[in-house]
Amino acid sequence: MGCAGAANVGQLSHRAAAELAGEGFARPFCLAGIGAHIKGFLKGASDADNIVIDGCAMACGRTILEHAGLSVACHLVVTDLGIEKRMNPLLSDEDVAKVKEAVRSRLASGEAGKSAPPEGPSCGCSS
Ligand code: SF4
Repeated sequence: MGCAGAANVGQLSHRAAAELAGEGFARPFCLAGIGAHIKGFLKGASDADNIVIDGCAMACGRTILEHAGLSVACHLVVTDLGIEKRMNPLLSDEDVAKVKEAVRSRLASGEAGKSAPPEGPSCGCSS
């Protein structure tokens, strides 16, 4: 899941997470639902190895999970990849690809295990 912040890097985190999920790489989750402490979202995320992509070092996504008592198996910060934070939501395909590759690379190195999508609904929105 990406932090989906307003800055370019927040939007990059969301788009990369959405594309990875669409490609069957992982199950998408609604970070807002977890932030709202809605039971179904908390249960789903507690059973998963959560991958969080944050736009910047503020790490809002990871903090939301931590506040909900959930673990983070893999955490990536977009600005750590050399992508500058700007208050401009325009994204380049090149940057999206860079974030996706960084996530794939982290998981290939064994930082998180469960990346295959499970059976059933792909989003806690149905809870
Ligand atoms: S991690 Fe950074 S980009 Fe993402 S919501 Fe927080 S401040 Fe915005």
